[in-house]
Order: sequence, then C-alpha cells, then structure tokens
Amino acid sequence: MTVRTRFAPAPSGDLHVGNVRTALFSWALARQAEGTFVLRVEDTDASRATEEAFAGVQDALRWIGIDWDEGPGVGGPYAPYRQSERRAVYDEAAARLEAGGAAYRCYCTPEEIAERRAGSKRPPGYDGHCRRLSDTQRAAYEADGRSHILRFPMPPGATTWTDLVLGEVTIAHDQIPDFALTRSGGAPLYVLAAAVDDALMKLTHIVRGNDLVSATPRQMALFAALGHPREEWPSYGHLPLIVGEDGKPLSKRNGEVSLRWYREHGFLADAMRNYLALLGWSLAPDRELFDTAEMVAAFDLSRVSRNPARFDVRKLEAINGEKIRALPEETLVQMLRPWFEAAGVPLPPGVLESAVPLIQTRIVRLTDAVDMLRFLLVEEADFAVVDDDQLVPAVAPQLSAAREALAAVEAWTHEVIERTLRDTLVDGLGLKPKLAFGPVRVAVTGRRMSPPLFESLELLGRDRSLGRLDAALALAAEA
Ligand code: GLU
Ligand code: ZN
Repeated sequence: MTVRTRFAPAPSGDLHVGNVRTALFSWALARQAEGTFVLRVEDTDASRATEEAFAGVQDALRWIGIDWDEGPGVGGPYAPYRQSERRAVYDEAAARLEAGGAAYRCYCTPEEIAERRAGSKRPPGYDGHCRRLSDTQRAAYEADGRSHILRFPMPPGATTWTDLVLGEVTIAHDQIPDFALTRSGGAPLYVLAAAVDDALMKLTHIVRGNDLVSATPRQMALFAALGHPREEWPSYGHLPLIVGEDGKPLSKRNGEVSLRWYREHGFLADAMRNYLALLGWSLAPDRELFDTAEMVAAFDLSRVSRNPARFDVRKLEAINGEKIRALPEETLVQMLRPWFEAAGVPLPPGVLESAVPLIQTRIVRLTDAVDMLRFLLVEEADFAVVDDDQLVPAVAPQLSAAREALAAVEAWTHEVIERTLRDTLVDGLGLKPKLAFGPVRVAVTGRRMSPPLFESLELLGRDRSLGRLDAALALAAEA
C-alpha cells in the first residue's frame, strides 16, 4: 500500500501551533513510508477564506519545512486541491446522496428549530422534522420559495473503528442528530467536502485533532452512502488536545497560539519542529532534542499519547537555545542579519562575525542577539542603559576606580582588561567578582545580561567604554 496522508487546514494567516503539530505528524507518517503528503486547503467557508489566508498557510508550512507532494502550487492527480475550486465535485456527491435517498431536504429555519426545541427534553440537535415530509408538504415549502439544506440521517447502529492513537472507538448513531451537509444555496459543509475528498484523493491515513473524533462516524457513513469501497477507507489517528499552563485548551487566553508569533519572536523552524513533535509523542525517554530526520525515522502513531499535551514555552525556549548553540557560526551570522536589519540596528562589516562567538551560547531566541549586541552597534548618542536601576550611588566608587584603571591600560585586549579590572575591583577594593563586575557590565552594555564582559569591552574600544563609564557615573550620582 502506498501511504497517502494529508493536512487539510482551513486557511488562516495565523496557523495555530496545534494544527501545525497535526501537519507535522501527518507529514512524518508519509515521509517515513516514502508515501505522498497532500496539502488540501479547506476554504469552502467563503466568509473566512481570503487570498492572504490561502497564501499564509503555504508560507507557514514552507517556513517550518513541511513540504507537500500534491497541493497548491505543485498540482497532482486530484487537482485542484483548494476546495473552493472543487464545488462541482461536492454538488455531484450531494445530488447523488439525495437521489439515492441517503440525504433529504430540510426547509426549517433556525428559529423554527429553536422553537420546537424550547421546552422539550430532547438532546440538542436537529429533531428530524423534515425527514418524513410528504410530497405535498415538500411541494408547499418549495412553492413558498423556502430555501433548503441537505441533511444526512445516520443509519441505525454504531460505528466502531480501531483508531491508530485511541485504540478501539465506538460511537452509537443515536447520539448523532441528522446533520447538515450543505448550507442553504448548496455550498458544502466541512463534513461532506472532507469525506468526499478523503475518498476521492485515496488517502490512507487521516491524522487530525481529537476534537474531530465525532466527525469520524459521520464521514464513514458518508463513505458508505457514496459507495466508497470499505477496503479503501482510510485509517484514523486522533491526536491529543494541546493545553496551556492552566490545563485549558491552548488559546489566545493562555498562550501564544500562532506559528507566526513564534517565527516573529526568534524561534527556529528546526526548534519548532522538534518541540511540536514532543506534544504527544517522544523519540525515546529522556531524549528531548533531536532533528527532524530522526523524528521521521522513529515516528509511530501507536506511541502517541491519549492524554492532553501541555504547551510549555520554557521547554520550547530551552530547545531553541540548544538548536542555536548547535548551529555553525557562519549559519548563525546569516540567520541573525535580517533581525538586525529589521530592528534598524546598523551592522558594520565584520562586527557580527566577531560578536557571534560571544553570544551564541547565551541567547535563547534570535531576537536576544539584537538586544545583547545593540550596545556595540548603536551610535553613542543612541546608547541607553536599559537596566538603569542597577546604577545606584553605592556603585559609584567602583565605577570610578574601573574607569581610572581602564584609562591607563596600554594594550586594549580582553586579557589585559580582565587583569586590570580584577586587580582594581577584586584585589584592590576587595569586592566579590560577581558584585565587582555587574555595574561595569550595566554601564558599558546597558544590561545585566550581556556577552562576556571583557570581550565586550575589547570590541567596544577604549574611548566608547570610558565614555559610557562616565555617563554611568553621572547616572549613579543622580539616582
Ligand atoms: N479543515 C478541517 C480543520 O481545519 C480539517 C479537519 C480534518 O483534518 O478532517 O479542522
Ligand atoms: Zn427541517
């Protein structure tokens, strides 16, 4: 069997990280089996579909490195892969379901449905009112010019399937009200369009979030009604929910949810792939850091957890930091350049090359590099001390001792600078090293967290360093 999997997002300029995890798992399954990964954009809801959102989905996937063999831009045997361009396919399926008696026209308005429900103890959902309309009633509704939708009544019984994640799942059909297949006017709803396409595109595995478990019996019933041979039905694997720190579904209320946010805040695509793979799956106990090829080789849906997966930004940051550390220096230099440009921080030739080795082990996000090196790159007039609360009157004596000693240094190298500052502040003033250098660090770099101090002073040069110590002394005196 050739494995064919798909990612079927509703278009959105801000793909939710949970959807990206779904895409990653589905993609990994196809890549491991050397099968085919399909991107199908589910944009039948015209109110939400825009060209930007359509482009946004593709851009997000390209950025994170999930490539597709069939889909927008690349085509394939079942093109088009954009559901808004496949209306005729769904119309035909809907007509066939209706003609065969598997679906019926419902003329009820939402108000009528609500009115009938009021005061009744029936479970929520449509009451089946139009299922048994007589021909005369139907003709009367049509003559009234009422619009209709198509509804699908589940056959009696239950659906059981062996879910690749959840194991055996059984859902009784009496829990499922007659559900809508189309909107009034005939546009297909998700449940129909996805079932029609999953069958037509010969998908073998459907990987999706477990919020869609309830769609599975419906879509299987549609397969049966549409004559899709049972041996060709796909297997299903429903992934666990992703929750925030508070245990509630990850949403804007308890975390950052869009892939774009992480991209814009200095996370690497490689780190995102690594971290998202850990949401419900693991390579091996105690192995949290891996590359995507390892993930693909080891991926196994049967080892995906059934429990909600907690999104932990600190773990993501730790992984991001590790991935940054593992980059060749030259690669990191290239990756950082655009961040400096975007921040409007000038980059004289060669500076980033000499500064990257100093910060590579200290940054967690790419954006940290801009913050850490700003002190080195800005014009003196634009330099500002960020952690100015550190410059209090009590530190004035050590700042002035440091200034005086540094002014007398002959060879401005980090070795000499270090020796001078140790002699002056630790041996001379008797300060503990941590307390001795902190104020100097804040004075010249503006921050408590900085690249190594002595190297920073060397790169900054003597004049600028002394000037900043003077300015810091003035700040400390005012405080
Ligand atoms: N368009 C659906 C969604 O974004 C796809 C669900 C599925 O994978 O079947 O939720
Ligand atoms: Zn009705």
